[in-house]
Amino acid sequence: MKIISIIGTKDTGKTTLVTRLVEKLSQKGYSVGTMKFSHVHFDLADKDTGKHRQAGAKIVVGTGKETFILWDHPLDVENVISTIESYDEIDFLVMEGFKSSRFAKISVSSLKDNYTIRQVDVKKLNDEKMDELVEIIEKRSYGLLQDLNCKKCGFESCADFSQAKLQGLAPEVDCKSQFKQALLEVNGKRIPLNPFVQNIIAKTITGMINSLDKDSDDIDTIKIVLHNKD
Ligand code: SF4
Repeated sequence: MKIISIIGTKDTGKTTLVTRLVEKLSQKGYSVGTMKFSHVHFDLADKDTGKHRQAGAKIVVGTGKETFILWDHPLDVENVISTIESYDEIDFLVMEGFKSSRFAKISVSSLKDNYTIRQVDVKKLNDEKMDELVEIIEKRSYGLLQDLNCKKCGFESCADFSQAKLQGLAPEVDCKSQFKQALLEVNGKRIPLNPFVQNIIAKTITGMINSLDKDSDDIDTIKIVLHNKD
């Protein structure tokens, strides 16, 4: 899953650009997710779920034709991204905000850092320029890097890889150690696993489940959560 963050000061068109990118990427056949940073509470005040929250619920879940889970505290961004990856196959995650993150960014204002691959004026983005922007995002964005520094991408470190991607020097290269088969978290923090280790874990656990008389052909996802508490 590749990640692009749209940053900018207040009322400069971040949401407009996010929605236009979601449309464009979806039209190209990608599965797209979004994630938004908010300084304030999410606006559920008039809803039943808002009343649940005001009454003191630590977790509020809405489920039916759609599902959402609302915790009463912020989660680490990388933790949220890991959770998204473990639940759904998303090609692009478009984030609104998160200006301090280490993902490729498009700025819609004067905000800029070493991860900013373009600064744009949303009002001047016609259809042709949007197509160009999507191409840049396809080539220069990357997924969650965990400083594994396995060198399988041909770069000495994840930092070198990300800088090459951001500068457009590695358009065809992708991280080879992304989550494919197995994902391990300890205390909510993802533990980097290279493809070899992922494969060993996947085969070992699947073998164990098979020994419980489950046919591995029927298995899509296995989830094991261990609590190390008395
Ligand atoms: S393949 Fe991925 S994890 Fe390994 S060095 Fe390259 S970017 Fe880092």
